[in-house]
Amino acid sequence: MYSHHSHSLDYIAHGVDCLEDVIARANDMNFELFCLTEHMPRIDSQYLYPEEVSNQNGEDIETLQEQFRRFLVHASEIKARELPTKCIIGMEVEGCDSNHISYAKKLMEKNKHVLQFCVGSVHHVNGIPIDFDQAEWNRALEFVGNNLKTLIKDYFELQYKLIKEMKPLVVGHFDLFRLYCSKEVFIDIETGQRVDQKFKNAICAADISFADVWDDVRALAVRNLEAIASYGGLIEINTSGLRKKLRDPYPHRDFAKLAKTIIGTRFVLSDDAHGVSHVGVCYNKALEYIDKTIELDRLHFLKEEDGALKVGCIGIEDFKKAPFWKRYNEVLRKES
Ligand SMILES: [Zn+2]
Ligand SMILES: [Zn+2]
Repeated sequence: MYSHHSHSLDYIAHGVDCLEDVIARANDMNFELFCLTEHMPRIDSQYLYPEEVSNQNGEDIETLQEQFRRFLVHASEIKARELPTKCIIGMEVEGCDSNHISYAKKLMEKNKHVLQFCVGSVHHVNGIPIDFDQAEWNRALEFVGNNLKTLIKDYFELQYKLIKEMKPLVVGHFDLFRLYCSKEVFIDIETGQRVDQKFKNAICAADISFADVWDDVRALAVRNLEAIASYGGLIEINTSGLRKKLRDPYPHRDFAKLAKTIIGTRFVLSDDAHGVSHVGVCYNKALEYIDKTIELDRLHFLKEEDGALKVGCIGIEDFKKAPFWKRYNEVLRKES
C-alpha cells in the first residue's frame, strides 16, 4: 500500500502525532511506501494560520523556516533506516501566490539532495485560506462577491500557475475548495451566487457536481488536468476528504471522471496523514470509490530504483487482492 502525502505534529502546527509515531504506524500496517511531504515554509506573515501567530514580529516566519530545516534532517534519518516501509521525501508546495511558487522552485533546487518530488497544492484563494474553517472559507467567498463559481475559477487559475511553473509530480487535493461547501451554504445553480435556502434556484453547495453544471469551471479543470497529464504529473486520490466527512475523497467523482477522459491521466493514493489514526484512513472507502464509483482499472505509485524516482502501476484486481487489506481490516476491527 502507498501514501504519497503526509505530515506530523513535529513540523506543522495542526499536526496530531509526532513523525516517529506516524511512520511506526505505516510500518505496522505494512505500507510499502509512505511519502514524507511536510509543507514548505510560507514566507509572508499574511499567510500564517491563526494557530501559527505568536505576535512576535517576524519570528513566526522564522519558526516555519526552522521547522522545515529540521524536517529535512529528520526525514533523511528515517529514510536511511531502510525500514520495511520505504520512504520517499518531498514537500507540499504552498501555492499561495506567485512569490510562493517562485520560492518553492528555489527550495526544491536548493534541497535537491533531500527532496525527491513535490506535492503541488493550493490552500489559499486571493490570500484567504479555504481549508482552515468555515468562517475563513466564507470570508474567501465574500471576497469574490459571494460567488462560488468565481471562487472556484480563481482557485483553478492559481492551481494552473502552480502546475505550469513547477510541474509538481503529484498534484494535491485537486478540488480542495469543496471542504467547506457545507450543508448550510446555498448557491444559485445558474449564477453561482450565494443565496438563501428559499431562493427558487437554490442548491446546497455540498450537492453540486461542479464539473457537470458549470461549463466555464469544467473548461478550467480540463485545462489543468491536460497540463498535468502533459508532463506525466500524478493526481492524488486524497482520503483526507473522507476523513473530514465529505462524500468522496479529493477529487470528487465529477472531477475524477473528467480526469479519466483525459489521455495520460494517472492517479495515486494518499492519506494526507497528520497523525497515527490518519495513516491509511478510509482506504477501504477509497477502494470502493476507485473500483465502483469512478471505475479505474489501475492505480499508479512512486518507487525508487537506484536512487531515481519511477512511477509504478498496479491493476485494480491485483490492488484489491493485496495482502495489505487483511492486516488493514484486522486493525480496523480491533480499534472499532
Ligand atoms: Zn494540503
Ligand atoms: Zn497536506
